Amino acid sequence: MKYNSTTDKNITVSASQAIAQGISTDGGLFVPVEIPQYSLSDIEALTKLDYVGRAKKILTDYLDDFTAEEIDECVTKAYTAEKFGSNNPAPLSYQKYGDIDMNILELWHGPTSAFKDMALQILPHLLTKSLRKTSPDKEAVILVATSGDTGKAALEGFKDVEGTKIMVFYPVDGVSPMQKRQMTTQEGNNVNVCAIKGNFDDAQTGVKKIFTDKTLVKKLNENNYIFSSANSINWGRLLPQIVYYFSAYSELVNDGKISLGDKINVVVPTGNFGNILASYYAFRMGLPIKKFICASNSNNVLTDFIATGTYDKNRSFYATISPSMDILVSSNLERFLYHMTECDDVKVKEWMTSLKTKGAYTVDADVKEKIANFFAGGFCDDEKTKKIIDEFFNKYGYLCDTHTAVAVSVYKDYVESTGDRTPAVIDSTASPYKFSGSVLSAVAGGEKLPDDEFAMVELLNAKTGAPVPAPLAALKDKETRFTNVCEAEDMPEFVLNSLGVK
Ligand SMILES: *Cc1c(COP(=O)(O)O)cnc(C)c1O
Repeated sequence: MKYNSTTDKNITVSASQAIAQGISTDGGLFVPVEIPQYSLSDIEALTKLDYVGRAKKILTDYLDDFTAEEIDECVTKAYTAEKFGSNNPAPLSYQKYGDIDMNILELWHGPTSAFKDMALQILPHLLTKSLRKTSPDKEAVILVATSGDTGKAALEGFKDVEGTKIMVFYPVDGVSPMQKRQMTTQEGNNVNVCAIKGNFDDAQTGVKKIFTDKTLVKKLNENNYIFSSANSINWGRLLPQIVYYFSAYSELVNDGKISLGDKINVVVPTGNFGNILASYYAFRMGLPIKKFICASNSNNVLTDFIATGTYDKNRSFYATISPSMDILVSSNLERFLYHMTECDDVKVKEWMTSLKTKGAYTVDADVKEKIANFFAGGFCDDEKTKKIIDEFFNKYGYLCDTHTAVAVSVYKDYVESTGDRTPAVIDSTASPYKFSGSVLSAVAGGEKLPDDEFAMVELLNAKTGAPVPAPLAALKDKETRFTNVCEAEDMPEFVLNSLGVK
């Protein structure tokens, strides 16, 4: 199995190289040259396995330069009951919102209470094994730009992992108090955290620039370091996410909600387009998916793109109550466009160049139409997000976080406007306790709220009875370790300083 760059098909690398490098040398993203094909009987076989078994099968088909023992070690170390609370790290919760069935795929039972754990608990294992194959004598420097959840999940995944150092950059005013506390109190001897004066896109652009800065990369190499990425531009992030779509489908079959071969819809609260792209790969592999419903908050650049074929980031940036989706440059869309143009690297490069220089591009009419056939986009602002959280809990008894509420809202609009009642899997991407202030103000009906984050956690728990994830509760008494703040243009200097490289 080989991987190509989205912007230059002549660049071909192995699976372990794709994971070790994170991004192609030409700035493109790695995509699999061939997509493994599963028949219904292959899917039936998956229904008989547990999550670890499903993950082993799917990872094996994509990572052909890993041995069976290596895959086994990666998967069994990542998805333990100790880390995810049970043998199924991605359970479905069957809910109703009025007369609409909501099959909620809870992806936040991992150590940092957000769905990023699904990939970032396994990525360090995949990455260290990949590096051993490609650059055995180098130490990996993992750079991460985060809109909140990736940062903590990556820190937790990589902390004290031998042969790695990790640095996380987050927008100084762009994360929730709980997210900030999670990162600034991070333990581990190989970790560093820095706030950026700017938004997530500034942080992400900064990291991308460092990766493609030839002088800087050379300097690091001379000091036996190699850069890598834990962002969802890394194939090793996307691949593990494909698993939970097959797993959710298997659970629906096993629970008698659908029959093998029935189509489902998927609803994904979307930011960087990684999670929804993973569902697209599942579809390409043979999972029966009818519609992909892409849910955005007020930063609705994707909603507009699906409707018009024009991607235009020249617009106001909103800091919303679903901060992990406050993104105007959805990096993984690049991979999707590559597949939607039948691997036209020249076109993708042209559009990505236009995005860099003009902040916008328009895809060809046939591409736009193709996408519109199986993608539906919608968005939900903060006010509506709160209304949904309130109603879903106070009327129908399910407490969800702000990101999940965006998905619920967009799905509700979708069902009401189309009448499409195909059973749907709705991704729930974070625990409500990661965003206690917003969730509490939604369910508490105008009551005055405490200022302290942990007082809010307690009050939300008292009001709703929803259990507080233990790792979040434990943050209360942790010491702050990181207080760095820097300009986006000073990120390279921060990296060099923290490695002690001149
Ligand atoms: C990262 C994140 C998202 C967006 O996922 P993408 O893969 O970037 O589209 C949605 N919700 C939460 C809670 C997240 O952490």
